[in-house]
Amino acid sequence: MLSKGTVTAYDARAMSGVLFRINHSKVQCFLRCTKQYWYRYVSGLAWPPDPGAPAPVVGKGVHRAMKVLCETGEPADGRAELDAYLRMPAHARAGPGTEWHATAFELFEAGCAAHATIESEWSRPELDTWVPSVRRGIAVSARADRADRLRGGRWQLIDWKTGRWELDETVDAQLDIAHLALRTQLRLPREAEVTAVAWNLRSGDRRVRQLTRDDAAATMERMARVAARMQATTEWEALPGPGCVLCEWREQCDAAAEAEAAAAEW
Ligand code: SF4
Repeated sequence: MLSKGTVTAYDARAMSGVLFRINHSKVQCFLRCTKQYWYRYVSGLAWPPDPGAPAPVVGKGVHRAMKVLCETGEPADGRAELDAYLRMPAHARAGPGTEWHATAFELFEAGCAAHATIESEWSRPELDTWVPSVRRGIAVSARADRADRLRGGRWQLIDWKTGRWELDETVDAQLDIAHLALRTQLRLPREAEVTAVAWNLRSGDRRVRQLTRDDAAATMERMARVAARMQATTEWEALPGPGCVLCEWREQCDAAAEAEAAAAEW
């Protein structure tokens, strides 16, 4: 059995800020709109208040319940976790009696059905680690919702999805980074192959990637190149698009307002 990782000298350097820290959200933000990246990670401005959408509460609650299910194998434990989470006053927008509350439990029941199909010899919920590379000058924050060693010794990681839609290429990039978490935290041997799955509990769709150590190295190289671009960027161009709808800085962003006005003229 591969043991839980201990803090290495590399980890210590990553934590001390020697290495440039990067993660999936940061990369996607930078590639989508450098102005948004500036707002979030460079400006130092206080983040706008949480708009209070119920979907993130549902997503977080279902992920918490799926973690407990993986820990104990008992659906009742996951249900209890979800129930308590959604009854918290801060989560009233998806509380009992709302349609969001019902949706959360439907998603969790779909998760229980998914869990029952996994022929696991050993499992672990929520891998979350740093993958430092001194040579590349980066530390990648990597996480996966669940890891399993399946019968026959194969490895699988899962990222649970609860949304209505995701861009395929964004999901693939997220799985590639989750793969780093699995290889690093569980110290997988070089020859180990990993099945990485984005499993949507709403639709039942599974997006599957078969990944090797070479893929992990390619992911690190790609992260290093994006990190170099991030560090070299001094002009923060706004790129208004469909993603503006979800941007927490939209109210402050002149470019988004101009794009909306131009669209209205057309
Ligand atoms: S509102 Fe749109 S253009 Fe403005 S920062 Fe956000 S994503 Fe970029």
